[in-house]
Amino acid sequence: MTEEKRGRLYLSATPIGNLEDMTFRAVRILGEADLIAAEDTRHTRKLLSHYDIHTAATSYHEHNKLAKGPQLVEKMLAGAVVVCVSDAGLPGISDPGAHLAQLAIEAGIEVSPLPGANAALSALICSGLDTTAFTFYGFLPKTGKKRRELLLRIKESPETLIFYEAPHHLRETLVQLCQALGEGRTAVAARELTKHYEEFNRRTLGELLAYYQEHEPRGEFVLIVSGFDSSREASSENSAPVNPVELVEKLESGGISRKEAMRQAAKTLNMSRRDIYNLLLQQQV
Ligand code: SAM
Repeated sequence: MTEEKRGRLYLSATPIGNLEDMTFRAVRILGEADLIAAEDTRHTRKLLSHYDIHTAATSYHEHNKLAKGPQLVEKMLAGAVVVCVSDAGLPGISDPGAHLAQLAIEAGIEVSPLPGANAALSALICSGLDTTAFTFYGFLPKTGKKRRELLLRIKESPETLIFYEAPHHLRETLVQLCQALGEGRTAVAARELTKHYEEFNRRTLGELLAYYQEHEPRGEFVLIVSGFDSSREASSENSAPVNPVELVEKLESGGISRKEAMRQAAKTLNMSRRDIYNLLLQQQV
């Protein structure tokens, strides 16, 4: 009697920059699998070519997951071994993958990890900040209200905070983190991890903001921020709310126009531009 072939879902890490960051096991299983469910098949094809892997790949991403997920589950129920990968790092971490894992679990299919690169944890372990307790937030919510609510909620969280951010939003996010958490928190901008221009910029939040006002943020970033320390922050001026006039001046010193600085400050502080303008007039700045 032949044993029935059992399907399985693997969630495999892929490199976050350096193609060598693959485990021997992940390479072997990718090569032996029946199908690779990739966030972007063209992107993944480069990795597969590098390792001389010829397994068929199909696209699986945020916009087709509801239709594609059940199809992949059908294949696994029929005995297929499927490996889910995203463009970089761990699937399911600010990337597609978690929904497929849920569907597979509901269908009684075994789900296994192929561990490896991940930007958040790679940044955290080299940050020099507390690694015993941390919270990963990924990308902050896009809408201002949800973002403010989240920042308010985490203001007094004692764990180290981890965020992902795109370079063109980094300055704005740093302004908001300074405003919500205080400029004095120790923070690390981990950039281009595992790549040629890898860099760890370890400063306070306020210093990081000043740095990136002067230097155009480029590449991929993880932001690590130390948690709330009641003994330090209760006596620290740094946790005082940001003064709107000072914020406009700080933004201007980064080389942007007063109009743009007022716009950004108004957005960040949730004030009207007119109120900011009036404050500037009152202080004749
Ligand atoms: N699934 C990935 C993981 O496990 O890390 C994260 C994917 S998420 C769509 C992409 C974000 O991860 C980037 O915007 C950046 O914040 C962070 N990231 C990815 N690669 C990075 C790298 N090499 N250096 C720094 N940050 C990186």
